[in-house]
Amino acid sequence: MDRKLKVAPSMGCCDLLNLKKQVEFIDQRADYLHMDIKDGYYVRTFGIGPDFMNAIKEIVNKPMDAHLMVQRPWDYLEPCAAAGATYITPHTDVIENVALVTINRIKELGCKAGVALNPATPLESIRYYLPYLDKVTIMLVDAGIAGQAVIPEMYEKIRTLAKWRAELDLDFLIEADESMNKDLYGELYQAGADIVVLGPPALWNKHENLEQAWETMENELKNETKNITV
Ligand code: MG
Repeated sequence: MDRKLKVAPSMGCCDLLNLKKQVEFIDQRADYLHMDIKDGYYVRTFGIGPDFMNAIKEIVNKPMDAHLMVQRPWDYLEPCAAAGATYITPHTDVIENVALVTINRIKELGCKAGVALNPATPLESIRYYLPYLDKVTIMLVDAGIAGQAVIPEMYEKIRTLAKWRAELDLDFLIEADESMNKDLYGELYQAGADIVVLGPPALWNKHENLEQAWETMENELKNETKNITV
């Protein structure tokens, strides 16, 4: 089986004093570059913003995904598109009344449209606009709070989403985000996830040297998914 679980490191976790080197290294190896954009309001923590993407876009070749953990995603669409985002991914609960308008606006800006679902949000809430999406991000825990244990029901959510995708003959990507570590790869892969978002526990914390940390992460990914047929 040649289907491979793709990786999207969360670039705000790079060593900021060593940013250029780490961005170049990761850009050569990752499938996507994940940008955790937080406003301190939708989630209580702060993240990077469009300025960060703008600063690195000249040295980046891989698709950048702006994951908008913000209360007012509409304020971020133009700045993220101008900063070189390939994907823009707002959370469903803050665009519910303008979901299709938002998806269309993201596409008008020349970007691909994703949405992110918090654990409590049912898949049914996006069923009718699935055909218009390029990516669905399933949050394995509540957004923006580090250190939570993964909610096991999220595997079932991914399985159901993958089943719907096949039934409807669609091709959006399925991404799993938050609390990532090697113990999750096998089950996420089997459930039908295409992309895993990597934070410090899955990548940077593996070794103080990023090259060695990457090698460890790659081996873990390979080992955890190798005997699984999907
Ligand atoms: Mg994220």
